[in-house]
Amino acid sequence: MIINEIFYSLQGEGFLAGVPSVFVRLAGCPLRCKWCDTKYAWEQTSGQDYSIAKIVQAVLRKSAWGRLTAESPGQQWPCKFVVVTGGEPMINSDLPQLVQELKAADKHITIETAGIAFIPDLACDLMSISPKLSNSAPTAEDRSQKTEIRRQKFLRLDIAVLRELIDSYDYQLKFVVDSENDLPEIQETLEKIGNVDSENVMLMPQAVTRDELLTKSQMVADMCKRTGFAFCQRLQVLLWNNQRGT
Ligand code: SF4
Repeated sequence: MIINEIFYSLQGEGFLAGVPSVFVRLAGCPLRCKWCDTKYAWEQTSGQDYSIAKIVQAVLRKSAWGRLTAESPGQQWPCKFVVVTGGEPMINSDLPQLVQELKAADKHITIETAGIAFIPDLACDLMSISPKLSNSAPTAEDRSQKTEIRRQKFLRLDIAVLRELIDSYDYQLKFVVDSENDLPEIQETLEKIGNVDSENVMLMPQAVTRDELLTKSQMVADMCKRTGFAFCQRLQVLLWNNQRGT
């Protein structure tokens, strides 16, 4: 598998925000969201080729839950939680084996996905789905972007896949909110999916920088109070201003 990066931080988003976690970032995503904060992981070649055994070893070598000792401060990552992210992990055919082997090592597995592909029977404790709305569409800065815009529009929302994911896994649905105008599209998307537990729905400010996060959080908080959906933090932006490896 092509691995973009493996690092230790706090989960920044979702219902597990604040929980120390090891992140395994797979390379490659077919979408080109205009506000994507991991553009460095878009290309399938944006990383190093690791065997699954080497990935698991990299996670486990430092992830000795319950065995952090005074003799080895800083050499271990004392957590049970692993987040497989991207890019888009669900388009990787080796994902089932990777999560199966991490699960066999007694890890809690979150998969972060845009919800554009379905894989059954994954060893996954939390499917963290962030469906992409029209606010993610690339902007037409030049003619070369037009193909990307058409491709992104075609790929970004697959209602049948979203339905399969929520029917098959414990899940959270995180919608990125850029403005008040996004709410009707969110509600329409939820109606189309159907059978969504509103307690699993979160609204997350679209923000790549700390300033942007602070500016948009109040608007999203008000929207959460009106709708009853949960506010989704972005601790990696708030605490580290979205530096790579956080
Ligand atoms: S789906 Fe996620 S990783 Fe892919 S372009 Fe959009 S925000 Fe970036």
